[in-house]
Amino acid sequence: MIPFVDLKAQFRAIEDDVRRRIDAVLEHQRFIMGPEVGELEAALAVRAGCQHVVGLSSGTDALLVALMAAEIGPGDAVFLPAFTFTATPEAVLMTGATPVFVDVDPRTFNITAATLESGIKQVLDAGELRPRVVMAVDLFGLPADYDALRRVTGAHGMLVLGDAAQSFGANANDTPVGALADITATSFFPAKPLGGYGDGGAMFTNDDDVAARARSIRAHGKGEGKYDIVRIGLNARLDTMQAAILLAKLEVFDEELRAREQLAKHYDARLADVVTVPYRPNGASSAWAQYTIQHDERDALAAALKERDVPSAVYYPMPMHMQTAYKAYGNGPGSLPVSERLCQRVMSIPMHPYMDGATADQVCDAVIASVAAL
Ligand SMILES: *Cc1c(COP(=O)(O)O)cnc(C)c1O
Repeated sequence: MIPFVDLKAQFRAIEDDVRRRIDAVLEHQRFIMGPEVGELEAALAVRAGCQHVVGLSSGTDALLVALMAAEIGPGDAVFLPAFTFTATPEAVLMTGATPVFVDVDPRTFNITAATLESGIKQVLDAGELRPRVVMAVDLFGLPADYDALRRVTGAHGMLVLGDAAQSFGANANDTPVGALADITATSFFPAKPLGGYGDGGAMFTNDDDVAARARSIRAHGKGEGKYDIVRIGLNARLDTMQAAILLAKLEVFDEELRAREQLAKHYDARLADVVTVPYRPNGASSAWAQYTIQHDERDALAAALKERDVPSAVYYPMPMHMQTAYKAYGNGPGSLPVSERLCQRVMSIPMHPYMDGATADQVCDAVIASVAAL
């Protein structure tokens, strides 16, 4: 089986730097909020062109801390796409706010101004909740259309929160992810484009108050001193060891993003005639967390690829408004048809920056042969 993501190849390429960084932490022993956390936050702030970066314990916690720092809670409607990972609605419900699932664009897989507007209209007509936040998910690494979303949220004084767990490193109209939304959350889960060797995440914002609250929340709601508790918080800090590893990975991140783009182009060129390949909207780049194709006979295609030693994965097999834990907040099957149809058709094929051309061709040959044999 060829690897779906090859973290070992990456480790071989950056091994000396990773070991040097880990050794430095072992020497200073400041495992919680050691100097690498601040160093990483500063480096990420420069990269993202934003004022504040707060290192956190996971992407999920970054979403939760962002919502808590924005003081979202009971009575608030938070709009989010049904075609996403469970962490997005989970964070909303943890705050006591109400998730409102909306549909996505069939080409970008992301929430749109039109789907958001129809969700807001429903909530206003029902008259029970305040529209407060849109959580736009940059699915598979492609930023949502934040300019278009802002034209809708502006009229309602709503906050734009980006779930950029998959898109850190991407841009839209020359603005990096991290500076596109009012608050952005990303993940350093090992398989994400910028991944650590364990859980980790970060929140980005230009809002001084939100950043200060987030720094307090990640350390149990501390105020001026450690034992001055001014709000309900969490234990949600990024640990020093992960920050050290991420600093080593940041050195090669731009090179890796270029390699991902090159592989995506290779796939586009060879596969566009046999399957639906990812759409590339004008002005945006992708971090290519996943390269996701579509086919009506998705499951048969996945089985045929496996026979040819090519792994694939389905992100995601079920939309959030149909999940057991969330269905009470949705309107059931048929209510969000694009998300439902995508869950039947999508499959992601191997994508990582260390794949050589011969392996990329092996993947393409397998897709082409498998589709022909369906
Ligand atoms: C991975 C992911 C998260 C959660 O990140 P963790 O670091 O695993 O907690 C949230 N949203 C999306 C869209 C993701 O892909």
